[in-house]
Amino acid sequence: IPYSFSDRDLLDDRSFVAGVWQEKADGSNTFSVEDPSDQKILAYVVDSSLDDYKSAIEVAHEAFGTYKKLTPKARSQLLRKWSQQVLESRDDLAALCTLELGKTFKESLAAVSYAASCLNWFANLAEEGCGGETIPNSNGRGKTVILTIRQPVGVVCAITPWNSPYSGVIKKIAPALAVGCTVVHKPAPETPLCAIALAKTFERAGFSPGVYNMLTTSSERAAEIGDLFSSHPLVRHVTFTGSTGVGKFLAERCGANLKKVTMELGGNAPFLVFADADLDQAVESLLACKFTSAGQVCIYANRILLETSIHDQFVSKLLKAIKDNIRLGSPWAETTTLGPLYSAKGAEKIQRLLKDAVGKGAKLVTSDVYEYGSSYYPPSVLIDVKPDMQITREEIFGPLISISTFDTEDEGIMFANNVKSGLAGYVFTENVSRLFRVSEYLEVGMVGARTGSISAIEMPFGGIKDSGLGREGSRHALEEYTELKAITLAL
Ligand code: ADP
Repeated sequence: IPYSFSDRDLLDDRSFVAGVWQEKADGSNTFSVEDPSDQKILAYVVDSSLDDYKSAIEVAHEAFGTYKKLTPKARSQLLRKWSQQVLESRDDLAALCTLELGKTFKESLAAVSYAASCLNWFANLAEEGCGGETIPNSNGRGKTVILTIRQPVGVVCAITPWNSPYSGVIKKIAPALAVGCTVVHKPAPETPLCAIALAKTFERAGFSPGVYNMLTTSSERAAEIGDLFSSHPLVRHVTFTGSTGVGKFLAERCGANLKKVTMELGGNAPFLVFADADLDQAVESLLACKFTSAGQVCIYANRILLETSIHDQFVSKLLKAIKDNIRLGSPWAETTTLGPLYSAKGAEKIQRLLKDAVGKGAKLVTSDVYEYGSSYYPPSVLIDVKPDMQITREEIFGPLISISTFDTEDEGIMFANNVKSGLAGYVFTENVSRLFRVSEYLEVGMVGARTGSISAIEMPFGGIKDSGLGREGSRHALEEYTELKAITLAL
């Protein structure tokens, strides 16, 4: 690869438990990690067992006893040091992200900087802490007063996907650590090297052992680990980002055992463009929320809904913008704006959705075609998409733009809401009443009103319907990892 690591200590193949990199026993199981750009094997990392996870949960529980007693200021300083460590290793962390995920190096650098800024944001919030209220007693005014305090829940177990291996992990771990919880983390099997390197930066920040434990695990073992997290008596909260099917399974198990959950599940974002929109702005926004990270982001636009009268004009502007701006190529090249997908599996899924749509009457209006078996998927635009096509119901998760039309505002909203998920939605119109009205009617947790770029750590991130439970980012994230306690005080 065209990169040489400056800090080889970040490269490892082991799990991090109780502040120690676990020695590999002879004959211990491993699994392989692939570079999606050429599908060569990059490394073999340890496949942690169920017993390893059980010990990690016990370690985290023990660490909780002392970590929760640190002052908010001390926790804040540790998080800030972690942020500095991430920034110090920025280039090496970015290179690992490009290697494992195929994300362009330029985007990977920005992703690492963003992860460091998220840590700083939570460092600030940690210092403010999570306050309570004073509630006057309605009967015995003058005799008692009710106080509420927020306390850390205890051991938090986190399961994360491959598509955001730094900020996606930080958004779960940092708020938990900010309020005084301790964490056991199972990263995605596709991006263990990023998780290992991030844990190395954690180690250098100076937290006490056992506060954060990270165990690499193959996909074959994911289900049994999920089962353990949702049933182990010492685990108080399971935070998961991934597919809706797995999320429902985990939430059901956690429900049976009365564990708290945060579920960030799949999206199917509508992107509504009305005839009175600024079309250039809408096209530019669509490029941002379709081609960054090769479109592999759960809040990105999945269904483009255009008011019929501007369809042709919008499509021709879009095709020109793609031709002018999108360059498919090696993720290491400066000029590349669209790298490979995380795996050929991702590209093959898009191809399946494309074939189904074309078979039912949709038209591909771009000329580059996908070469079967490759992880590289060309920027593509599909028009005449109808509700009976699979592509309207599944997440595309890649650089294929799927376009349908609507005739009235009510019809546009109806099409937008006619799906099971409700993560993000986008609306473009220059009529401010309509902009707000449609934003209100969209059945989603997050709206981009005249913008396609909504990612920000200060925004409450999360979905409704099949897209999940709870919120990440913003100060609401801290509440997720706390319990409310009421104290009635006799005066
Ligand atoms: P994706 O298609 O984005 O990989 P998944 O839901 O399959 O979505 O994976 C997200 C994360 O959940 C990964 O870390 C994966 O290993 C893990 N995972 C997959 N199946 C299970 C399961 N049954 N229980 C717990 N975790 C799981």
